[in-house]
Amino acid sequence: MNKKIIKVSKSNISFKEVKASNQVVASGNLGMGLIVEKFEKKLRKFFNRKTVCLNSGTAALHMALQACKIGHGDEVLVPSITYVASFQAITATGAKPIICDVNDYNLIISITDAKKRITKKTKAIMPVYFSGHSGEINEIYNFAKKNKIRVIEDAAHAFGTVYKKKKIGSFGDITCFSFDGIKNITTGEGGCVVTNDGKVIKKIKDARLLGVERDSNKRFLGQRSWDFDVKEQGWRYHMSDINASIGIAQLSRFRVLALKRKKICRFYDNILKRNEKISFFKRDYGKEVPHIYVVKIKNLKQRKLLRADLLRYGIETGVHYLPNYKLTKFKVKNKKKYKNTEKIFKEILTLPLHPDIKQKDQKYIVNTINVLIKNKKYFRN
Ligand SMILES: *Cc1c(COP(=O)(O)O)cnc(C)c1O
Repeated sequence: MNKKIIKVSKSNISFKEVKASNQVVASGNLGMGLIVEKFEKKLRKFFNRKTVCLNSGTAALHMALQACKIGHGDEVLVPSITYVASFQAITATGAKPIICDVNDYNLIISITDAKKRITKKTKAIMPVYFSGHSGEINEIYNFAKKNKIRVIEDAAHAFGTVYKKKKIGSFGDITCFSFDGIKNITTGEGGCVVTNDGKVIKKIKDARLLGVERDSNKRFLGQRSWDFDVKEQGWRYHMSDINASIGIAQLSRFRVLALKRKKICRFYDNILKRNEKISFFKRDYGKEVPHIYVVKIKNLKQRKLLRADLLRYGIETGVHYLPNYKLTKFKVKNKKKYKNTEKIFKEILTLPLHPDIKQKDQKYIVNTINVLIKNKKYFRN
């Protein structure tokens, strides 16, 4: 048996990141300063849009919502299947997440379902570009425009994905990315908001430093504001130079990291498609940078058991995600209405995907799954 565990996801760190972060630590200036400014400039170039960095993707979503003045009494449409971060960011503002079903073919928020759940209180929709797939963004924007609501994109999975020849983040209303340890690029922990809305950028630049007005620009000059005013609720959400230095190194390696992810997914598709029990969601690796690789195993009933057995063979897997209405905080009574979610979530399984996965690992993973799922025990209640 294989002693080394193949991890479902992990960071890919080179000497560049080590050297850059060491330099920051050695410099003695560890907080937010010139390196964060430099990273923001590089991101601005990448997206051709204004960018503000935060200490997590969750903070990015929270600050985007707050900058749109969304709070108590407001509702935000969000898909059932997403990381709980999307939900916690909404409730952090005081607003209520309104859970929508997902499309069964791509796991993106269903606009057909969103239309049934929109009310006068709805202020925004938060699409999640699940696994790095964009879905039909046009449809989401048409819906938002018609109903005069904002679009706050949770693009935590989709750094680098292209939709109609444009990068996610380079168009649209407000886009939020995560740079946590396992995302398409990482800063250790971190995130950013990308938008053309100057007011939103300005608000977040203050809000990330406890609402201290214009403190962001002061810190980029290596100074701080001592004589200041605060008018709005702020947070300690700014990024540190240590994290930004890792981000700069990752961004310089992004092209290679993205190509590796795409290649791994294409190879999975090719060797998995021979098994009739396994199917995929609609994906296009010519355009999207995949963050996770999710398959559906037809009529799977004992996923826990299958995952435990795979782990005994040294293969770690994941479940992305438990529908959020199954969590105590976000329970809804009439969950029968989430038809696609209910059907799909029992069958999904995430296979290992990160730039260090080798083709021989993939062959081993797929062979092991193929052999295991011949056993009927995984398909009985
Ligand atoms: C990772 C993630 C986030 C939050 O990012 P953090 O940087 O971990 O706070 C939000 N939404 C989704 C879908 C994610 O996967």
